[in-house]
Amino acid sequence: PSPLGPTPKLVIDLERMQQLPKEKAGPLARYVATIQSQRGDYNGKVLSIRQEDLRSLAVIYDKSPSDLTEELIGWGVLDPEARRAVDSF
Ligand code: C2E
Ligand code: C2E
Ligand code: C2E
Repeated sequence: PSPLGPTPKLVIDLERMQQLPKEKAGPLARYVATIQSQRGDYNGKVLSIRQEDLRSLAVIYDKSPSDLTEELIGWGVLDPEARRAVDSF
């Protein structure tokens, strides 16, 4: 096991996401809305997503999962801790 503890979860900050310009956050926002509707989970300030979903989002954004993670951290949508989740890919 990692000395840093278990793999952190990928937790999207939904309030921050809503503040971003549409050109950036549009595809992410649509993806998140789909997951919310599948789960019936509409009231959170954050949404935990699957590791697998980050891979799908990376394809959508035409980036590697780690490059997309850096971008999402830069936008303030993911916590820097998320880097460790992607390192385990
Ligand atoms: P599913 O993948 O067949 O999952 C059925 C149910 O198992 C989910 O119902 C949830 O109660 C539970 N479940 C499955 N994986 C996990 C997990 O990693 N953590 C937790 N806490 N529970 C899990 P739910 O939430 O109503 O979702 C219904 C369906 O919506 C899922 O069926 C799946 O097809 C889709 N879905 C929901 N959330 C996600 C997501 O984050 N990513 C993806 N790719 N699909 C999702
Ligand atoms: P946690 O995973 O650290 O989540 C902390 C809080 O963030 C949750 O408190 C909830 O308010 C919010 N949160 C995280 N992910 C989501 C999300 O996808 N949707 C929404 N609406 N809110 C989210 P909460 O609900 O009181 O849960 C406290 C703790 O209980 C969680 O800490 C986790 O350890 C556990 N827990 C709750 N639901 C699940 C679950 O579906 N699966 C697992 N494995 N643990 C869960
Ligand atoms: P979590 O609920 O704490 O689950 C942590 C990890 O345990 C998941 O990472 C997944 O690898 C495994 N896991 C938990 N439940 C199931 C399950 O029913 N089926 C399978 N095949 N694996 C399961 P993952 O996939 O990266 O998901 C991260 C977090 O995203 C979950 O943490 C949960 O908060 C959220 N999540 C993912 N899928 C769903 C879903 O379908 N419904 C809901 N409500 N939350 C989900």
